[in-house]
Amino acid sequence: MYIVMIASECAPVAKVGGLGDVVFGLSRELEIRGNTVEIILPKYDCMRYDHIWGLQVSYENLWVPWFNYHIRCTVWFGFVHGRKCFFIEPHSDDHFFERGSYYGFPDEHMRFAFFSKAALEFLLKTGKRPDILHTHDWQTALVPVMLYEIYRFGGMENIRCCHTLHNLKHQGIAGENVLWFTGLGRPPYYYDKQRMGDDFNPSAINFTKGALLYSSFITTVSPRHAWEARHTEWGYGLGHTLYLHQGKFGGVLNGLDYEMWNPETDPYVPHHYGADTFEEKAKNKQELRSRLWLRDEAKPLVAYVGRLDMQKGVGLIRHALFHALRKGAQFVLLGSSPELGINSEFWQLKHHLNDNPDCHLEIGYDEELARLIYAGADLLVVPSLFEPCGLTQMIALRYGTVPIVRWVGGLADTVFDRDFSERPEEARNGYVFHQTDHLAIESAMDRAIGLWFDYREAFTALAVRGMRYDYSWNRPGADYLNIYEFIRHK
Ligand code: ADP
Repeated sequence: MYIVMIASECAPVAKVGGLGDVVFGLSRELEIRGNTVEIILPKYDCMRYDHIWGLQVSYENLWVPWFNYHIRCTVWFGFVHGRKCFFIEPHSDDHFFERGSYYGFPDEHMRFAFFSKAALEFLLKTGKRPDILHTHDWQTALVPVMLYEIYRFGGMENIRCCHTLHNLKHQGIAGENVLWFTGLGRPPYYYDKQRMGDDFNPSAINFTKGALLYSSFITTVSPRHAWEARHTEWGYGLGHTLYLHQGKFGGVLNGLDYEMWNPETDPYVPHHYGADTFEEKAKNKQELRSRLWLRDEAKPLVAYVGRLDMQKGVGLIRHALFHALRKGAQFVLLGSSPELGINSEFWQLKHHLNDNPDCHLEIGYDEELARLIYAGADLLVVPSLFEPCGLTQMIALRYGTVPIVRWVGGLADTVFDRDFSERPEEARNGYVFHQTDHLAIESAMDRAIGLWFDYREAFTALAVRGMRYDYSWNRPGADYLNIYEFIRHK
């Protein structure tokens, strides 16, 4: 099969969160299974160009219709760790992708509406006719809409779309001008609630709603979240629409790229180890401590890696930090937030705890340090309020770091409590708590830290068991291929 991914991120070249990991990992798995996969991305100025091999111009003058004029684009091609990627570079005064960061601009909808349009225009002009277009989140949600309404008349009528919802909190709510700029036009037609009219804002269209309607299949990133999105507030207002389309909606648990995330080969892990050489992990803990100026004592090291967003339970993360210190453990945090309030709260915390030899906060994005933390920590907390899938707990398991998670979304599908799960003992791999209050996370942390102090062998056995789990793309890759096969013949 010939599959084209259109996305705003792809690890490690343009990654903000799990979306980037998924686009890369799924593409690799699909290729291993004998399919042709190409990825189309914006050419951001802030990308990690050191991860692109053989970058060269692939298509010189791609004129993309935009409102009543055209924007000229150059399309580049390069390999990202073996994946075939096309990068779209528009030449216009808007400087859509030359702004020093990936997201967070007032004209965000225009930027990604343009990118979606340019990607389709690129397929049209180059004669590429994939069997499947796989789009991701609101940034590329207009692709299925434009494919059906505009481009299927240009010889692309046999292409089918699969759209994946990674985070429903961001849906792409925009005004009428997006319709005029993309050439969709006809506001009354699209403002219809059966199409893209937002259910809560009569003067807005909703990109994601468009994708739900126009795609042949919709997935979200875990079975549990597929249920939550339809039946709880975590559908962020799209629960009813998802319910209406449930015949073509399902949850496929994300995988983890086991080659990119491998403690036996990871270039940023100074002492490589596996399930059979687990004792080597302790050396990474020492490296981590010396890099972050933490004292070297017989204490468990608890970590948090991830965005500092309300979704991630910032209040609980902060509480976990103080609780770990109270219980005689150490705590390391790596994260950043685009929200000024949250960012400055954690900067203050960092200053407050600056001299504490058992605690280190690193505010920012640092892929290399993240890997050392996964390798060096004993425990990883993931106290999210909602979590469509979550990758950090899977990475932790892969690196022999025991996860402590809240029972929600993909966390509930991947981590099973050592003491209270209904699963057989050999399937239990971490600690789980349910509520969002302090006592809940404390009780899970107490059990985990207690096991580390009092029953070290049992703790090691738990960590090693996690390492033997298979959360690779093997199964989800097969699931996605089944979905593609199913919609290809529709
Ligand atoms: P989300 O996509 O909601 O941000 P996920 O758990 O699905 O969360 O994926 C997070 C990914 O981003 C993981 O690979 C994690 O290691 C990485 N990550 C998040 N924040 C940082 C950071 N500050 N520095 C380095 N890596 C980070």
